[in-house]
Amino acid sequence: MDTPLSPGLYIVATPIGNLGDITLRAIETFRGVSAIACEDTRVTGKLLNHLGIKQKLVRYDDHASEETREHLLRLASEQAVALVSDAGTPLISDPGFKLVRLARERGIPVTSLPGASAAIMAVTLSGIASDRFLFAGFLPSKDKARRDALRELAAIPATLVLYETAPRLVDALHAIGDLLPGREVAVARELTKKFEECRNGSAAELAAHYGAHPPKGEIVLVIAPPLPPEPEDHDIDALLRQAMVDAKPSQAAAQVAKATGLDRKMLYARAMELK
Ligand code: SAM
Repeated sequence: MDTPLSPGLYIVATPIGNLGDITLRAIETFRGVSAIACEDTRVTGKLLNHLGIKQKLVRYDDHASEETREHLLRLASEQAVALVSDAGTPLISDPGFKLVRLARERGIPVTSLPGASAAIMAVTLSGIASDRFLFAGFLPSKDKARRDALRELAAIPATLVLYETAPRLVDALHAIGDLLPGREVAVARELTKKFEECRNGSAAELAAHYGAHPPKGEIVLVIAPPLPPEPEDHDIDALLRQAMVDAKPSQAAAQVAKATGLDRKMLYARAMELK
């Protein structure tokens, strides 16, 4: 390290499978901090070992004792402290929220070093609309709660991104097929690892596939946005006749155009024929 790191909390993303997916800045930060707060010291120890770095590790998750959190906050106010999770970006369905919130409230500098996150990788890989998406974390594991959650998500006009586990995948796909019918789904599995796959299809097709070939490993589901509503089948003649009871054809066409979104010129031409 040329310059020592200034005090504060450094949120550091780590690989989600392929150990090569770590940034140069993350490595420098691991070398420069006084301690690394991590979910599981064995998991982070393995990564550090791979990188040839020795560091003090402090076990931390959001259920950690107040004492541990206060200890880390005190440390971060005087020295540089890194926060990592087992894999990917901390706080994204991972611990860290409480620590970051308190650090910011107390004026402790907080920065975040971007890197791998399974949700973002799955969106980019899926070929499903990426301009607008909602990350909803894990669905509940019980069927009723899962279906309630999906009912709530169904109306959101955006791509949905969910984390899922292999044993629950088929049940989740059945529920998605029932409650979000007609929407394309991508199962993004074992991302950055040897058996990486991204399989797209309807929820029913994917449920049949994974029912026959039970999946292993970690999974992200990407669900296409709701389909645009079918254009309504307006009875144009009836609407125009009704409007022309007390309006001229041009006014009737304008009224019907406003109500239906149909082309005013086309409606005017039809109104003149009906007159
Ligand atoms: N913070 C992590 C991130 O940024 O991706 C996510 C942590 S969350 C506890 C773990 C879940 O992320 C897994 O159950 C799975 O749904 C998803 N996940 C993590 N790594 C993955 C991978 N390599 N391939 C597919 N999904 C993955």
